[in-house]
Amino acid sequence: MPNPLADRVAGLKPSATVEMTERVRIARASGRKIIGLSSGDPNIDTDPRIIAAATDAMRRGETRYGSPAGLTALREAIAERELSRSGVSHEPADVIVTAGGKFALLTALMGLVQASDEVLVPEPGWVSYGPCVKLCGAVPVAIPMLNEIDETMLARLASPRTKAIILNSPVNPTGNVFSSADIARALAFAERLDLWILFDQVYSDLLYRGDFASPQRLPGGKARVFIIDSLSKTFGMTGWRLGYLVCPPGLSKPVLKFIQHSIYCVPGFIQVAGITALSLFDELVPIYREIFRARLESAAQRLSHVPGITCTVPAATFYLFPSVARPDTDVARRWLEEIDVATMPGSAFGSAGAGHVRLSMTCSDRELEEALERIARVGI
Ligand code: PMP
Repeated sequence: MPNPLADRVAGLKPSATVEMTERVRIARASGRKIIGLSSGDPNIDTDPRIIAAATDAMRRGETRYGSPAGLTALREAIAERELSRSGVSHEPADVIVTAGGKFALLTALMGLVQASDEVLVPEPGWVSYGPCVKLCGAVPVAIPMLNEIDETMLARLASPRTKAIILNSPVNPTGNVFSSADIARALAFAERLDLWILFDQVYSDLLYRGDFASPQRLPGGKARVFIIDSLSKTFGMTGWRLGYLVCPPGLSKPVLKFIQHSIYCVPGFIQVAGITALSLFDELVPIYREIFRARLESAAQRLSHVPGITCTVPAATFYLFPSVARPDTDVARRWLEEIDVATMPGSAFGSAGAGHVRLSMTCSDRELEEALERIARVGI
């Protein structure tokens, strides 16, 4: 046996959502008809025009190395999208095209943190925040923010080694959208401690009511916020691995070195597909939004009638995060074992998520209907 593996990977826990997806795959292979409400992979087929844009580009020969920062036309389209979403104008030169939102997060962290730095990560929060921080040699510090951003909590858990804070809105797993007061508090806190903000807005296009508050819009925000976004959830393009990072003015050049020396660039034909996707935003996104909104509303209503479940309709995302009056891991295990319905226990997203179960509205309407009937039959 050669030397042991690096702590960097040996010490990481596997992703809880990927593990659940694997368990579902194995159970299905053994003949069980599992209904998957556990993954964040929407059942939206990529629009054929987006696929045609990619295949045409491949045929044209756009199959070579490209610019590590991404195609100019895509970076311009991204800057335009940011302008219409948040009202903030960014130079296309500050945009870096990445292999999905996850790699945008890793790219920002690689550029910002080093050994023994601390990064504040939201809890409950997406399962990859802590591991991405650790991959960069830094230490994640969980900040409970189930419903709001509590400044006292931030101040209590920050230390002189804190370098950055990750914020996610709309939130995976709760579907909450942080208010402008919450976002302003977080920015003021970051300013006081001179921290970077990594703002993950990958669900911002799936907003059903209210406003979407972005820290880059506030005075002083643009200079300390790295925006992490992706086409995955918005366009049903999870497998294309296409996302982006918007850096504070002038910082993309040093940060880009991580891309240059790792993946080098996102494939050109994938980026061409991204330009087409963004050009179809106004046509496609309202349709997808309506699909998820309708599923969330009817599922929340059905779950509210199940004794021991309290469920509200979130303002965004495709996740329901009801509270359950029994340990969440027991409930999720029981649903998987007894009724073949896969969900995620809230505690998989950190201890602040305990007492909840996350249900993704990412399967077909018929499967969702069937899953809800089974849950209503057995309860929690
Ligand atoms: N951020 C959050 C909060 C997510 O839930 C996900 C995907 N589950 C991502 C980022 C990354 O998505 P992708 O890499 O597919 O763009």
